[in-house]
Amino acid sequence: MKRENDSFAWNWSRQPESIVELKEWQDCSETLNMVTLNNSKDRWVWIEDSKDGFSVKAVKKALIAERGNGRLTNFDWCKWVPIKCNIVAWRGNLDRLATRVNLRRNVDIISVMCPFCNEFEKTMKHLFTACLVATRVWAAISVWCKIPPIYIFEFKDILDIHNYSQVEKKAKNIIQGLVIISCWSIWKGRNEVVFNQISRSPQEIVREIKSRGYAWFKNRTSCNYIS
Ligand SMILES: [Zn+2]
Repeated sequence: MKRENDSFAWNWSRQPESIVELKEWQDCSETLNMVTLNNSKDRWVWIEDSKDGFSVKAVKKALIAERGNGRLTNFDWCKWVPIKCNIVAWRGNLDRLATRVNLRRNVDIISVMCPFCNEFEKTMKHLFTACLVATRVWAAISVWCKIPPIYIFEFKDILDIHNYSQVEKKAKNIIQGLVIISCWSIWKGRNEVVFNQISRSPQEIVREIKSRGYAWFKNRTSCNYIS
């Protein structure tokens, strides 16, 4: 195929015949007609966000849109918490953690029961909201943060806990971070059970959240707000 006087000259080995082929040809022609060529040097452009150029935020937006979920989810990254914890919570919010039920979509998994309680199908929702381990963790976090008992029904509710807490802005930020660390710690505990056959109690997970939360907050903010 070559371009001649603003239109394309097709060099077919055989003419498109079926409806599908004709439709593909039409789509291809329409796409090519939108292309204009000039003599300037080739360069890379980020078409999703041509005004501000490439950014991680734009990639995130494009990935979410690609999943058929046009709206941005309610995930705010917490700066004082390590990226690995933010990523677990972010992926959890997108239902993109590799739970047994999520994995079953592509892989044969023998059991899809929750590795903590072994009673329910291990969905994201169960693991982080309804499982006895999770409910005990959230109960301990509410006591530690001196906020009312936490009731959550969906993963996204977890990420809103700080917004509904009647506390000052700085405390909201700390609660947000501790909640994200809690998600990471629950997920880490789950992985230890699944991959290393190490049992993890809610008390152990809470101990980890407290010690990590205290150390990370102190390291990254030089502040002794958490006690
Ligand atoms: Zn469970």
